[in-house]
Amino acid sequence: MFQTQMINTYELIKKKRDGKSLSTEEIEYLISGFTNGRIPDYQMAAFLMCVYFKGMNARECRDLTMSMVTSGDSVDLSPIKGFKVDKHSTGGVGDKTTLVLAPLVASCGGIVAKMSGRELGHTGGTVDKLESIPGMRTDFTRDQFIDITNRVHVSVIAQTGTLAPADKLIYALRNVTATVDAIPLIAGSIMSKKLAAGADGIVLDVKTGAGAFTPLYTDAVKLAKTMVGIGEGAGKKITAFITGMAQPLGYAIGNSLEVRESIETLNGSGPEDLTDLVLTLGSEMLVLSGISQSQPEAKEVLKSHLANKKGAQKLKAFIEAQGGDPNVVENTELLPRSRTTILLESDRSGFVQGVDALEVGMAAKILGAGRQTKEDAIDLSIGIVLNKKVGDPIQRGESLAVLHSDGDNAKIDSAAKRLLGAYAIGLEKIAPPKLIHAKVSGDTVEELNP
Ligand code: URA
Repeated sequence: MFQTQMINTYELIKKKRDGKSLSTEEIEYLISGFTNGRIPDYQMAAFLMCVYFKGMNARECRDLTMSMVTSGDSVDLSPIKGFKVDKHSTGGVGDKTTLVLAPLVASCGGIVAKMSGRELGHTGGTVDKLESIPGMRTDFTRDQFIDITNRVHVSVIAQTGTLAPADKLIYALRNVTATVDAIPLIAGSIMSKKLAAGADGIVLDVKTGAGAFTPLYTDAVKLAKTMVGIGEGAGKKITAFITGMAQPLGYAIGNSLEVRESIETLNGSGPEDLTDLVLTLGSEMLVLSGISQSQPEAKEVLKSHLANKKGAQKLKAFIEAQGGDPNVVENTELLPRSRTTILLESDRSGFVQGVDALEVGMAAKILGAGRQTKEDAIDLSIGIVLNKKVGDPIQRGESLAVLHSDGDNAKIDSAAKRLLGAYAIGLEKIAPPKLIHAKVSGDTVEELNP
């Protein structure tokens, strides 16, 4: 019989430091002890660093996740009729996929009841983006969330503090102890929130490339396999895609600018990379939901709902149900606009050979699109719109990007310098980096577009 008092935190740190695996009870002891304040920050920080260096096996990753799930509330989505499908990205720059995908999939018969977060590090958050739509709310009660989903088939709300609270506490510690980019910790963090949020099916978008939390492809695959294993262990239908984040997704980075680009995409005139990603993830959501038999079949349905604007109409209904102004879908001028715009000119001629997504994310943050401290209010109109991406020709003096700013010159200078540094320009034209790398389901990793 497991006896809490027999477990000593010091011994558990030492055990992991020495590369041994911890039992289910030992992991539960650490997570519940840290969440209820019995285990201090310094011991948890030491433990996290041991995990960073020594890793965790698949069973430990599952146990870590389940201990984080049971540290708080789980959402019972059973009052929502039908198969609930969720999608989660590990985070990227310009990644506004949810804003397009959620209404588009719902317009095809999928049921998307989704909890999202705010910005994390250099990456943006769906909740901040949605809140740039005038009047739009994301702070609904569980019953209101269920009611909206039953009526509109799509709702996206902010994660509550009671959902996997262990993750919130551990994440804050990881953020200041250089332990964010450890695969078992990222997997536990993401999957604890996904499992607690109650969907039946989950499609994961695991990013690779400069702007990802797992820049190396091999690490992205490892993370995807770990998360798929955790999801399957919890009885979910789950698939992961490994997708490129070497350069930003689409052209817009920053909250209202990304909403504008998402609306354009639903209206059929969005960037090619964003549209491709939406079709890939969305088709898998329809297959998991049992609405389509195959990905190609699902892609055709999704494409037709872009062409006939059914996805855009669903976005309107979704915005209206959450208190926002649905007229933004027809008139994006109603979205917040920045005080000033500044053109960033190229100092060279040639071809764009790289747009470092991490550096672009940092430049947008410096400009004011993100928070410097977690209490900061942000100006939702601030951001960057790229005019050039990899493969594009550029002339000296031509505009690489537009900075949307509040007029603060110090921020503009610093962001412009960083953004210029993000661009690699050379004489040779090169192809854009690969977007859809692989699909991970069960134990299988299927390379796509090899
Ligand atoms: N997103 C999360 O929610 N957690 C992580 O650790 C990384 C990305």
